[in-house]
Amino acid sequence: MADISLNDRPGDPHGFKRRGLLFVLSSPSGAGKSTIARKLLAADPTLVMSVSATTRPMRPGEVDGRDYHFVDLPAFRQMVADHEFLEWAHVFGHRYGTPRAPVEAMLKSGRDVLFDIDWQGAQQLHQIAGGDVVRVFILPPSIEELERRLRGRATDSETVIEGRMSRAAGEIAHWDGYDYVLCNDDADICFQKVRTILEAERMKRSRQTGLIGFIRKLGKATGEVD
Ligand code: 5GP
Repeated sequence: MADISLNDRPGDPHGFKRRGLLFVLSSPSGAGKSTIARKLLAADPTLVMSVSATTRPMRPGEVDGRDYHFVDLPAFRQMVADHEFLEWAHVFGHRYGTPRAPVEAMLKSGRDVLFDIDWQGAQQLHQIAGGDVVRVFILPPSIEELERRLRGRATDSETVIEGRMSRAAGEIAHWDGYDYVLCNDDADICFQKVRTILEAERMKRSRQTGLIGFIRKLGKATGEVD
């Protein structure tokens, strides 16, 4: 991965520099992760979403280039061969991957990047970017509520619903590969908690090596350091 160290932070009044963050949100479908992601992006213009490529067909209401880059299997394979992905994985019978170049460009421009990817992607990102990755796992409030949400349209067959439930259980089984785990009882409260995690992670000293100049100046002003 390209060097992402010490970039200027747009909108930072103190001119701090710090390492960019790769902020991963994962959850079983039905846990409300997309709502949290949307709220985070709306609340924080310095956070940008990584748009994945996928071979799965577009769903009604989705927009190519906004929700995903929809590509066919040969195109996806070519992207893998050309090392265009930071990570990629098979998820529920389709392929999904995070394009490398936009993420590197966003980090370089001083933005933090939000990823809606599964546990395999979270694991791979962590392998390549280590402590620059913050992994957050969102759990549904209860198994009953998850089932209620996954039942969605009354027209879905029992087999379809059972498939969704077992996929959700498979994803939940990987909760221990995350730095933070929280329960989405209430979308607003969950959003606030995720935002707090992001803010706290941004202030970690290990990301703030660019602060040294600022601290020196402060110290000089107060006579505490020379
Ligand atoms: P959906 O097809 O419902 O949009 O997404 C299915 C699953 O694929 C979700 O758990 C989502 O987080 C995951 N996913 C989406 N994009 C990527 C990606 O680029 N890499 C990985 N590893 N998982 C992804």
